Amino acid sequence: MAKRTGSGKSGKHVYFFGNGKADGNRNMKDVLGGKGSGLAEMTNAGLPVPPGFTISTGVCTIYYKNKGKLTPAVEQEMLANLKKLEAVSKAKLGASDNPLLVSVRSGAKFSMPGMMDTILNLGLNDKSVEGLKARTANGRFAYDSYRRFIQMYGSVVLEIPKSEFEHEFEGVKASRKVKLDTDLDESALQDVVARYKKIVKSKTRKDFPQEPLEQLRGARDAVFRSWQNPRAKEYRRIYEIPDHIGTAVNVQAMVFGNTGDRSATGVGFTRNPATGAKEFFGEFLVNAQGEDVVAGIRTPNPIAELESVLPKAYKQLRQITTRLEKHYRDVQDFEFTIQDEQLYMLQTRNGKRTGYAAVMIATDLVAEKLVSPKDAVLMVEPESLSQLLAPIFDPKEWKGLPVATKGLPASPGAASGQVVFTADHAVEWSRQNKAVMLVRKETVPDDIHGMFVAQGILTATGGMTSHAAVVGRQMGKPSVVGAGSLEIDERNKTVKVGGHTVKEGDWLSFDGLSGEVKVGRVATKPSEILQVVNGEMKAQQSDIYRRFTQLLSWADKYRRLGIRANADQPDQSAIAYNFGARGIGLCRTEHMFFGEGRIPIVQRMILANNEKDRRAALAELLPLQRGDFYGVFKEMHGEPVTIRTIDPPLHEFLPKREDLMVKIARMETTGDTSSKDYAETSRLLHRVEQLHEFNPMLGHRGVRLGITYPEITEMQARAILEAACQLVKEGIKVVPEIMIPLVGDVRELRDQKAIVVRVADEVMKEQGVKVKYLVGTMIEVPRGAVTADEVAKEAEFFSFGTNDLTQLTYGFSRDDIGKFLGAYQDKKILERDPFASLDTVGVGQLVAMGTTKGRATRADLKVGVCGEHGGDPSSIFFFEKVGLNYVSCSPYRVPVARLAAAQAALQTKALD
Ligand code: PEP
Ligand code: MG
Repeated sequence: MAKRTGSGKSGKHVYFFGNGKADGNRNMKDVLGGKGSGLAEMTNAGLPVPPGFTISTGVCTIYYKNKGKLTPAVEQEMLANLKKLEAVSKAKLGASDNPLLVSVRSGAKFSMPGMMDTILNLGLNDKSVEGLKARTANGRFAYDSYRRFIQMYGSVVLEIPKSEFEHEFEGVKASRKVKLDTDLDESALQDVVARYKKIVKSKTRKDFPQEPLEQLRGARDAVFRSWQNPRAKEYRRIYEIPDHIGTAVNVQAMVFGNTGDRSATGVGFTRNPATGAKEFFGEFLVNAQGEDVVAGIRTPNPIAELESVLPKAYKQLRQITTRLEKHYRDVQDFEFTIQDEQLYMLQTRNGKRTGYAAVMIATDLVAEKLVSPKDAVLMVEPESLSQLLAPIFDPKEWKGLPVATKGLPASPGAASGQVVFTADHAVEWSRQNKAVMLVRKETVPDDIHGMFVAQGILTATGGMTSHAAVVGRQMGKPSVVGAGSLEIDERNKTVKVGGHTVKEGDWLSFDGLSGEVKVGRVATKPSEILQVVNGEMKAQQSDIYRRFTQLLSWADKYRRLGIRANADQPDQSAIAYNFGARGIGLCRTEHMFFGEGRIPIVQRMILANNEKDRRAALAELLPLQRGDFYGVFKEMHGEPVTIRTIDPPLHEFLPKREDLMVKIARMETTGDTSSKDYAETSRLLHRVEQLHEFNPMLGHRGVRLGITYPEITEMQARAILEAACQLVKEGIKVVPEIMIPLVGDVRELRDQKAIVVRVADEVMKEQGVKVKYLVGTMIEVPRGAVTADEVAKEAEFFSFGTNDLTQLTYGFSRDDIGKFLGAYQDKKILERDPFASLDTVGVGQLVAMGTTKGRATRADLKVGVCGEHGGDPSSIFFFEKVGLNYVSCSPYRVPVARLAAAQAALQTKALD
């Protein structure tokens, strides 16, 4: 795809579509946004699309650069396109006879459902409403459209609170003694219009704009402004959508789904986006306007029912959407309107889907020969695979509870949490480590922050394509929507369900795959895939497991990077291996020191005030470590295992200074100072104080410990080699890689390597076997990266510790960044947390330099990464470009890393 930003070539700002021809096409998402490029493509394909034009994303950039003013060139282009639109539709904006009405909608490159603003029925004024009435012979419809327009324009453009309009609307309904909106007749709606105009006058001190061009400019600018509203910004933050790309604005001739019973509007998917099932999926409402379906205010009907209501249009819709799926070679998410039995397509785009559906769909499309395995690899979001590993309910416990109600199964997954009724509470409670269930009448886009932290989202109204459902699926958040029997009382913070009154803080659970809701807390168990990986279920019994492994085996064909895991225990290593890790990239040996019954031995080692006592404690640790190493090696079936010598400062293994002080003070008050316990506690406190550091992260840790206490390195080297020798004797292949952490100067490494080599020689001699092993280092101190050519004289491999490297390059403490990261992100100083996603501009340059310099000394130097970034897809893309040999990540991230590495290889190749 041609990379274009701004207004495209030749300074064009506005792109027309209509009458079977469009200026744009599907490859112009950067310029036209997703909606604009889809409309252009559908127009070119000869589909029934109402004509219109797209104002490019580049204009959004101009709008912000010029502080809300657009250039005369843009204004002129827009007017020229409006003229064209009027000519094609044979109608005129604002005219009293046969008026043109348009919709004005946002549309960024990446879809942001419901986050920005839309205005419908634009072009109506006191004159044209009469023209609409005459054309449609339907006064009720004309005035209903006008009142909707004033309300939308009033709230979005003029920023008058919606409630002002709603209040008047309810007032008219009450005075006419009607219950439903649709019961209001033309004269009542005229009354509503008059009241709305009064609100506008009193709030803005101006009349409601009658001039259609003023309306159009106002709506266009409001859509641009909505790019920066808080919910859109939050959405971009969550989905890492860059702020600078802006939104396009689509101006399109209106078609009406609300002209009567032969009209309808709806949205749908060519396959089920929650489960991936190959079924026509969606919803519609007869006699309604587009927003009514997605807003979740009326619960719509399943799309299958359209067949009996409007059979001709249904048949055409099926044909068109099937064609679109074939054309785009992916599941389509579409919007349509039927006006007096005539079908119009308003949008098509690749449908968002859950991780589960993504795997189902990708493997089905390959089986149907619609896409190749390579396409399938590229079409699944790596991150979404982690959703497939999310827990499910323990079936016994789940069955034991009665069903309280049932809603629509919008997004699969088991959710159990304490009920909260607002998004803000969800955030507040989750900060206190509570599992929350966000219960809402309907979710609105402003709830996004609460949805993000909740275990699950449960709503009373809305359909499968309501905002809650769309966002829930995309987040991989279990969601049940439209559970109509919920009686939510937000003021008193209660919800009545299945005869229970559930208060805020009580537990509710639901299954997002069946839609069943139950009162109470239910324990969860591992997902089906994890059960197979753990050996609790057979692969043949799990369809999703087979598809998941199929997809990953395709990915393996295309990836260049090796995938290893960070694991310290045999059981973790086994999981990692079953997920496809081929090697351990980081075994943190200090984690083994925390094993059961080991801490007292470790503490004895630390408290020893002479080498002899220290060696005695180390001798006790030796067999325990050897046993662990033996287990890890064995689980890796001959793949390389990188074992790092001890890293954290020793005080981490001792009790907290404050706790010891309190204990001593208590003993002193009770006069209990002659006991053995008192003497020991005092000695411990003394040692803790000796070891106390102002900056432990920069203190006596890593290689520095091995230099001051060489006997620790000796013990660890011995444990590794003894375990390896034993396996060799058993005929099992082992590839130990001994890694020295926190090296900044080659002389540190030289010192430690000498110890390892000496001990290894001793052990191999004692055991009478030879083991091939490597000694290498972590590159995690900037000086190590800068002098990597020197370090590589000793190091037989490198592994970038990007956690420490980020900490030391930025000077941000790994433990304290949380205090200021939020402010940095708000002010756009940082887009992302650099500890989660590699700072390629700074830290990444050290990785690139270290690799190049290291390989200048040792051409075949094996280089990997074992910081958290090893499991992050965008960082993996960078590691691919730099040419690392492998990435190493937590066992559960291995599938994500396999897929991301394949995509990185394919995309890097495509860029070359
Ligand atoms: C690192 O620093 O990136 C690393 C993997 O080591 P640790 O997180 O144990 O400091
Ligand atoms: Mg580190």
